[in-house]
Amino acid sequence: MAVQIKAVRGMHDALPEDTPSWRRLEQSVIAILARYGYEEIRLPVVEKTELFARSIGEETDIVSKEMYTFEDRNGDSLTLRPEGTAGCVRAALEHSLLHNTGQRLWYMGPMFRHERPQQGRTRQFHQIGVEVFGLAGPDIDAEIIIMCARFWKELGIDGLRLEINTLGDPDARNRYRDALVEYFGARTDELDEDSRRRLHSNPLRILDSKNPAMQKVVEAAPAMTGFMDNESTAHFARLQELLQAAGVSFRINPRLVRGLDYYNRTVFEWITDRLGAQGTVCAGGRYDGLVEQFGGKSTPALGFAMGLERLLGLLQDEGAGVAAQPPHAYFINVGDEAVTAVLDLAEDLRNALPGLRLLTHCGGGSLKSQMKKADKSGAELALILAGDELQRQVVSIKPLRGDAAQFEAPWPELAQALGKALGL
Ligand code: ATP
Ligand code: MG
Repeated sequence: MAVQIKAVRGMHDALPEDTPSWRRLEQSVIAILARYGYEEIRLPVVEKTELFARSIGEETDIVSKEMYTFEDRNGDSLTLRPEGTAGCVRAALEHSLLHNTGQRLWYMGPMFRHERPQQGRTRQFHQIGVEVFGLAGPDIDAEIIIMCARFWKELGIDGLRLEINTLGDPDARNRYRDALVEYFGARTDELDEDSRRRLHSNPLRILDSKNPAMQKVVEAAPAMTGFMDNESTAHFARLQELLQAAGVSFRINPRLVRGLDYYNRTVFEWITDRLGAQGTVCAGGRYDGLVEQFGGKSTPALGFAMGLERLLGLLQDEGAGVAAQPPHAYFINVGDEAVTAVLDLAEDLRNALPGLRLLTHCGGGSLKSQMKKADKSGAELALILAGDELQRQVVSIKPLRGDAAQFEAPWPELAQALGKALGL
């Protein structure tokens, strides 16, 4: 027997029982984005490898060990996108979208990272991401965070906590970097292998270590606060003021650095305690230097991305998932002539009642076997064209739930009768 082919490890199907919850999550967020003036951009899933290497940073987990990179038939090195910001910046530059100061964009789709699969961590996962270009002040930082708070509120997700931090300007970051090299350099015996490797290439990343054995040495590390530049300090203070005024609570986490190299100033994460170690459901920050680094004119920018699998887990936890909807009616047809008539009648019904979910029986069989299928489908009504209904040009309508009596409707009145019976 042939060996059955299974899905790639860490890449999951979304089954019909879950897709309604997926759609509710996506549509709620997308509707809110529109209310804040964001426009959708659709980006390729594959980009040139150097795009990610240059923006995310060689020493990040993503670039050093998580990317799906391959050579195409021309020998070009391509990569399945591990995140959306790099591609969005590339597209914004390529299509001159950055002339519009205050360009607000969103995208949605699958991302790919070769990580160890576990709860809340898969190799294909999905994000909705947001990027804003051309705005430098803390007002927009505040607004995107306030918008996130609205997502959670309207989705019915409770208990997310907001952590914020500032990484300062590049000089401040370099000063801090030196201090970390000195601090961790004196404690190499307490560092794990990853952290030792990062000590000189990317010491800030050590603060982001997920290794519990590293927590003590990380917690005692010097905080960024002492190295901050004045402008970043003022920017951060104003952000806090605006969040307070909006009633959005937060905690300052001076060791929050984020896994990607391109951030400066504001960084933030929304975190839950309910998903174990994989608690961050939404993360982002400012990346004022990235556009210029890609060869564009210096353009302030910021954004965030939310992990849809993790949010979906929370939604379903709260009982706020959406069940699949059964059809309203199941159209039974016995005999070739009935099939011809029913396909036609069903189209008329779909024209007349756009809200109707109508399942037409296909595949023949006796009245009894079709009735069984109608019942199993979960439909409220069976519509029957099986015996003399055809000659008399009527349809029998049999309620399948409760004990209302069966009745008939002549073909021209079928839509009306059905609309009334179903409240459509
Ligand atoms: P983590 O620290 O959990 O690895 P990250 O810092 O690598 O997250 P980002 O690159 O900021 O994550 O991506 C934004 C969001 O995307 C995360 O907060 C998370 O919700 C989600 N995410 C990231 N990687 C995965 C994954 N492998 N599986 C599922 N969701 C993910
Ligand atoms: Mg990660």
